[in-house]
Amino acid sequence: MYSNQEIDKAAGWLSKAEKIVVLTGAGVSAESGIPTFRDALEGLWAKFNPEELASREGFMANPRMVWDWYESRREKVRQCQPNQGHYALAELEKSKNLVIATQNVDQLHHRAGSQNVLELHGNILANRCFTEGNLLKDEELDWTTLPPKCRCGSYARPAVVWFGEFLPETILSRAMEASRRADLFLIAGTSGLVQPAASLPLLAKQNRAKIIEINKEESALTAIADIFLMGSFAQVMPQLTTATIKLL
Ligand code: NAD
Repeated sequence: MYSNQEIDKAAGWLSKAEKIVVLTGAGVSAESGIPTFRDALEGLWAKFNPEELASREGFMANPRMVWDWYESRREKVRQCQPNQGHYALAELEKSKNLVIATQNVDQLHHRAGSQNVLELHGNILANRCFTEGNLLKDEELDWTTLPPKCRCGSYARPAVVWFGEFLPETILSRAMEASRRADLFLIAGTSGLVQPAASLPLLAKQNRAKIIEINKEESALTAIADIFLMGSFAQVMPQLTTATIKLL
């Protein structure tokens, strides 16, 4: 657990910071009902290896199965709502210069009202062409097959970054640039194991940014955190926002 003094200290830093970057992971959406990567490994699809399903090779080997797997995840995401942590972060953005670099593909930061969101791993609710890579609207797709097809005859695929794929170049370079310039970096709900996202706080640390972390457990990034707030995102983030706004 964390103390009130730690919240106050973190809020003091946030209130004074001029360039804030927030890296979020699956843990920030856990209290919205979306399983984290680890939970998913133990859940419905536990018998499948996500690294085989969520890859170009997996899709080519069995497009219908991969499509159905994503459809079940999309259905879950559509039913979920942002939690108090998402809303508190959006509230903080109204008074601070803040960029969210998220590993989540669930759009919950957007739905909570955050404006400045970099989706490092894409958006699960969107589709793109498997061959050409361009984003496709539902009405542009031929739904007589599943997965549906692009006009070019190729299948549509979820607009997420799969294992073995590069992150969207512009988004990653914007996140790296913001991290290098940050004077405060907040890490929330990520195990810090997935690269290159996990390196963003290291870029900030090199520039002597202060690092605050919120997580229910220690992560691979806790060692570089100046303040570690051990707790759930939906509980800690609203306290942090309220305490910060009081100081402005
Ligand atoms: P992860 O599953 O590896 O780690 C989740 C982290 O969140 C853990 O450190 C855990 O202790 C912490 N956590 C769990 N519940 C929490 C809570 N209520 N409050 C605070 N912390 C909590 O997730 P990751 O680091 O984001 O990496 C997994 C990969 O899987 C990413 O690439 C991501 O794109 C993808 N993914 C996304 C979603 C989503 O969009 N919501 C869900 C699952 C997986």
